[in-house]
Amino acid sequence: MRCKLCKKEAVIRVRSFGIALCHEHIVEFCLKRVKEVVRKYRMFDKDSKVLVAVSGGKDSLVLWDVLKRLGYNVTALFIDLGIMENNHFQKARGIVESFAEERGYPLEVFDLQKEYGFSIDDVKQRETRTICAACGMVKRYIMNKYAYENGFDVLATGHNLNDETAVLFSNLLGWRIGYLARQGPVLPKEGKFVRKVKPLCELTERETAVYAFITGINFLSDECPYSKGATTLVYKRALNTIEYNSPGTKIRFYREFLKVKDKLFVDEEKPKLVECPSCGYPTTYPPCAFCRLRERMTVEKVS
Ligand code: SF4
Ligand SMILES: [Zn+2]
Ligand SMILES: [Zn+2]
Repeated sequence: MRCKLCKKEAVIRVRSFGIALCHEHIVEFCLKRVKEVVRKYRMFDKDSKVLVAVSGGKDSLVLWDVLKRLGYNVTALFIDLGIMENNHFQKARGIVESFAEERGYPLEVFDLQKEYGFSIDDVKQRETRTICAACGMVKRYIMNKYAYENGFDVLATGHNLNDETAVLFSNLLGWRIGYLARQGPVLPKEGKFVRKVKPLCELTERETAVYAFITGINFLSDECPYSKGATTLVYKRALNTIEYNSPGTKIRFYREFLKVKDKLFVDEEKPKLVECPSCGYPTTYPPCAFCRLRERMTVEKVS
């Protein structure tokens, strides 16, 4: 298999484009795709202050590297959630800190336990609901608050095409109209909710994996110990089978959805946002979910 552009030995076949690329040109391909996506969806520009949420996993580190190489004004935020099983967050934090140090990239670390007096392990022990729902809410709250209070124009996350299409597929199967109306690579700023973007949304998991491998990104390959049985994996597998038989399906599915969604899905039921009386951030049911969780964790610790 030869590279379409330089005829050197290829390392990957980009099936959706029907081309094979060598190690040098796949890196160029990923950089170009992200640059185009940022421009196409008007995510941000060179003057914007961008906060990238990093977890130590492949995609967020790739996103951080790509945006830095493209010359954007980027700072990364790592949230230490305090998941101690398998030293998960210790390992993740070590990887992110070394990544930043080796490349001289700016990094901020937010320690949940230090700042709020509880960890996700504490939540897991004391709450009956699924931990990922609570953890996801905590991460979204902190990322947004951090970005807002530190003057960032935009918050970027490492969701790739596989993530986006799996969520889209799942929302379509359940006809979740409200979610469908809001799904997309850009979520505009709304009061104290900062603008949120997904610059990797047109790169597949395979493409980001090859990028990480070729550019020497050392990432955390262990899954979070609480992630077992995530339902999105089922949708990802189904879409991979379809993509294998009909290359380009995923990117078409996503792009065509974005073209028609405003006509098809009107977000009529969008709930009204009010200010949380406790923290001042927007919520639909005050006090906000984060303040309610924080209150429960504090009360239980004291009693
Ligand atoms: S898998 Fe669940 S518990 Fe683990 S970091 Fe992700 S959301 Fe949090
Ligand atoms: Zn080449
Ligand atoms: Zn609140």
